[in-house]
Amino acid sequence: MCAYALQKAGVEVLLVEASPRSGGVINSVTRDGFLLELGPQSFSGTSQLRGLCAELGIADQLLEAPPKAPRYVLIDGELMPVPMSPPAFFTSKLINGSTKWALARDIFGKTTPPDGDESVGAFVRRKFSDQLLDRLVGPFVSGVYAGDPEKLSIRSAFPMLYEAEKASGSIVRGMFRVAKKKKGPRERPTLNTFREGNETLVRALSAKLGNAVLTQNNMAKIYKQSDGTFEVTLESSRNSESVLAKSVIFATPTQVTANLLSQLDGSFEPLLTPLEYAAVAVVSLGYRKSEVGHSLDGFGFLVPRSAGLRILGTVWNSSLFPGRAPDGQALLTTFVGGATDPSAVKLSGEELSNLVHSEIAPLLAIKSNPAFCNVTMWPRALPQYNLGHGERLASLAKSISRFPGIFLTGNYLRGPAIGSCVEQAFATAEEVLKGV
Ligand SMILES: Cc1cc2nc3c(=O)[nH]c(=O)nc-3n(C[C@H](O)[C@H](O)[C@H](O)COP(=O)(O)OP(=O)(O)OC[C@H]3O[C@@H](n4cnc5c(N)ncnc54)[C@H](O)[C@@H]3O)c2cc1C
Repeated sequence: MCAYALQKAGVEVLLVEASPRSGGVINSVTRDGFLLELGPQSFSGTSQLRGLCAELGIADQLLEAPPKAPRYVLIDGELMPVPMSPPAFFTSKLINGSTKWALARDIFGKTTPPDGDESVGAFVRRKFSDQLLDRLVGPFVSGVYAGDPEKLSIRSAFPMLYEAEKASGSIVRGMFRVAKKKKGPRERPTLNTFREGNETLVRALSAKLGNAVLTQNNMAKIYKQSDGTFEVTLESSRNSESVLAKSVIFATPTQVTANLLSQLDGSFEPLLTPLEYAAVAVVSLGYRKSEVGHSLDGFGFLVPRSAGLRILGTVWNSSLFPGRAPDGQALLTTFVGGATDPSAVKLSGEELSNLVHSEIAPLLAIKSNPAFCNVTMWPRALPQYNLGHGERLASLAKSISRFPGIFLTGNYLRGPAIGSCVEQAFATAEEVLKGV
């Protein structure tokens, strides 16, 4: 994205990618008539992303999930709908009277966030209740970060909530204030993918970049020359070559970035390497619809940790978007692992698919074994915006400022969602252009 923005602005770019294809974890694959998303399943259609799609000529390939598709959460063995509006929240059976009272207290009362960093768990308990943390916030945190709410920082992982309380003394009033302040027509939140999967975006960007994309090349070394330019060594299975660059943008995961930047200055490594990642296994199972008793009418479901299951949640892909499964079949994608169950990804593919089937079958009244199965392991799936993340990023920015021409982009900076990564990539490109 960043390379595309720079090329569009007339800058000569070279995108170096270690693997045979660009796109990283965005990976859409067709197998046995199923369209699988091995990484992200869908994305929020921000106005920036929509604009980019229009510019790339792929807007007509965008698909939108049914806006009212219910989301469920597993409570006492039953899939209960998540309340999607304030009135639905107050009438929902999912939460008890004291949680509803805590919400009312937030609307009419005033609280102040503590001076230091606070975990998501501590924040929800302070403002609302243990029940809200267990039944709604914890599962939501699993869905976005595959994270542990006791470790994630509210300021870094959900800055809007922190800012809302800080500015208004109330989350609800603060969020309304932010929404009111936004200029232009109100954006309707949408959940999107493309007819041929999320990777359409990557393919369109790669096509625009053309020969500027160099795959199967590892960025292996970096050296700052006396004139301020950088000599970068690229290694492929066949050879090693050096390129000279005025600016280098690291869009690599933090451990790779730390290793390379430490060649310029030892202070980078201790800032980047402690950043934890959650490991996630993505298990896609296909079933004949006639064998599934549940209507699968909705987005899917999330599982509170207190339910005692190992699955984090399941997306009902074929209910959200057309073309995900052959006629008469359903595609269900389940996530296992995350920060609260790191050993799950040590299971074999067969163990994982058996585990997922055994846990989802009773919930969805599935009567037979899956007709199709695919397991993808992501040992470093999602960066964790844990306590201290904000301070670490501030120190990192300070260190980077001592190296004009070095820039960072990626999912550990502004949020892990695709929309946030796109926003970060464009912001980084703008920073680069200031120095051109
Ligand atoms: C399982 C899973 C589910 C997700 N679900 C969603 C979702 O539903 N919605 C959503 O919005 N987001 C989701 N996300 C998050 C989102 O997809 C990612 O945060 C985002 O795509 C990461 O982009 P990135 O470019 O920062 O990192 P990556 O995709 O990790 O890209 C890093 C790239 O660097 C390359 N590289 C590494 N080392 C080198 C080197 N030495 N030289 C050259 N290249 C190198 C890698 O090959 C890779 O291509 C999900 C992520 C995962 C893993």
